[in-house]
Amino acid sequence: MKITKVALVAAADSSLQLAINQLPHNNPNLITFFNKYVDTTNVWSWNSVIADLARAGDYVESLLAFSAMRKLSLTPNRSTFPCAIKSCSALFDLYAGKQTHSQAFVFGFHSDVFVSSALINMYSKCGYLDDAQSLFDETPVRNMVSWTSMITGYVQNGRPYDALSLLKDFLTEERLSGSSNYNNENEVCIDSVAMVSILAACSSISNKNVTEGVHGVVVKKGFVENTRVGNTLVDAYAKCGQLGFSRKVFNEIINKDVTTWNSMIAVCAQHGMSTEALDLFYAMVRDAEVKYNAVTLSAVLLACAHSGALQSGKCTHDQVIKMGLEEDVVVGTSVVDMYCKCGRVGTARTVFNRIKNKNVRSWTAMVAGYGMHGYAREALDVFYEMIRVNMVPNYITFVSVLSACSHAGLVDEGWHWFQTMTHKYNIEPGVEHYSCMVDLFGRAGLLNRAYDLIKRMNVRPDFVVWGSLLAACRMHKNVDLGEIAARKLFALDPQNCGYYVLLSNIYADAGRWGDVEKMRVYMKSHGLSKTPGFSLVELKGRVHVFLVGDNEHPDHEKIYLYLEELCMKVQEAGYVPNMTSVLHDIDCEEKEMTLKIHSEKLAVAYAVMNSVPGSTIQVIKNLRICGDCHETIKLIAKIVNREIVVRDSKRFHHFCDGLCSCGDYW
Ligand code: ZN
Ligand code: ZN
Repeated sequence: MKITKVALVAAADSSLQLAINQLPHNNPNLITFFNKYVDTTNVWSWNSVIADLARAGDYVESLLAFSAMRKLSLTPNRSTFPCAIKSCSALFDLYAGKQTHSQAFVFGFHSDVFVSSALINMYSKCGYLDDAQSLFDETPVRNMVSWTSMITGYVQNGRPYDALSLLKDFLTEERLSGSSNYNNENEVCIDSVAMVSILAACSSISNKNVTEGVHGVVVKKGFVENTRVGNTLVDAYAKCGQLGFSRKVFNEIINKDVTTWNSMIAVCAQHGMSTEALDLFYAMVRDAEVKYNAVTLSAVLLACAHSGALQSGKCTHDQVIKMGLEEDVVVGTSVVDMYCKCGRVGTARTVFNRIKNKNVRSWTAMVAGYGMHGYAREALDVFYEMIRVNMVPNYITFVSVLSACSHAGLVDEGWHWFQTMTHKYNIEPGVEHYSCMVDLFGRAGLLNRAYDLIKRMNVRPDFVVWGSLLAACRMHKNVDLGEIAARKLFALDPQNCGYYVLLSNIYADAGRWGDVEKMRVYMKSHGLSKTPGFSLVELKGRVHVFLVGDNEHPDHEKIYLYLEELCMKVQEAGYVPNMTSVLHDIDCEEKEMTLKIHSEKLAVAYAVMNSVPGSTIQVIKNLRICGDCHETIKLIAKIVNREIVVRDSKRFHHFCDGLCSCGDYW
């Protein structure tokens, strides 16, 4: 028996030595150092050396100390192992971890709850969850550390359902053992670390019921006011689309830290609730307890970009400069993106030039920015520069490049990069790239080429791809292909009325009034209605929202009067309203009314009334701008002698002196 143990120890020692010899940066002088300064006969002094080195992040050295101690044939105790194992986890070194496990085994400590928890942690960090699970199952007495290690292991390895089922096991075990068990030294109470892991699992599952269930546990276990738990809960609710609950949890967190604020601001910004995001930011700035950071500023810039809130964006940019973060690649890129989306592509370029160590995201933001403004040449120049400095473009860069080509009608260049992307950069074209190409071919009137490309797609074409083809069929009056595209769209997105309207317009252009009537009846009987359009305009730091035919705005009477005045002047200039943008079945006068009250016209009129003469006006529209509004705004820009910028769902239009930067191609 005794001999067996000696043999086992010797084998474990030589394996440990081998494992440690394979680690990089071994400092041979360390052993001399240990011998000189450590009481080498005392296990406890070795333990503290191992622990100190691990805590300082010198993991290899910590393991070296462990092996030096074994070379002196000192017997480790239960406190030796957790730190040595932690060093293996931190190095993600399964081999060294296994050898340390063997040591724990031969000295009889592997069942110790702290040693086994560290081992569970090590195995799951290295991706060996089955080993972690069997250790967990074999541990005779589990404490919260072992439960937390196992739950966290599942979450970190992308197995959120297993993590939740483990929580269930824990709660059952806790209930079965009764409370008496939990007042002694082995007290097992769920802790906040485990709760944070569980909520991270909820975030990745993004199911409302699951999150609510775990929220119940949070309340029951008294973690409602815990800041870290609350922060994760805010995120978990947002991930399953329950923004109201996110906000409620946020409000309940008593000691909000910078992460709390950042999570809530980011949630609002990502869901297009930019006013809420900005209000939160201002509230945070007033809160003297918390200092905002780079993450906050990036989230706020995203919110400004979404709503085109240039003034707020500029103020945020000032904060960025004050904090010396303009050259920072993450924040700097957010500033670039904000200026592009708020219509100031020139300013974006200046900021872009100042960013040090630009990454692929910074370059892509600039390419996309030029593209959405219709400056395809500049977009491609930035792209060529990016390649020249050996920055490797990614999937999204190519979406931006192809989209720039499509906005400017550069068919050959677009086709060239579509092919190069696969051949040279090994990027398989995704649905976004295909939809850019279909759009590019379609606008250029190459409808059959567009349709052939769709048929050859190696991914399933989605509604954007078919929608681009349908719009192109409308533009080039192709009924047959239009019907094919529309049929696909009705199946993919049956509630969207826009496709029925487009097909109906294609029929009307072809004089097929019977089919127009059929579409009208179908839409009516299925209760389909158009997505309501709305426009945003920012004046003096406030974002105003206008809906189609808006009567909600406090100044709506004045706005309508002024708009009518403008439209009279537009008609005097010889413009006849473009009827083709609305359903053909409405009678003529009503058609003109419907056209007049498109939200972008209201927003433009309101902005002209309320801004300094000569200043640039900027409007954001949620849908694509219609032909009539486009023509009218061109003339309004000329009449009031202003530059008017409209960002629609597709791109920017810079209206100036009766012309638009898109060259009427959008
Ligand atoms: Zn319109
Ligand atoms: Zn335009």
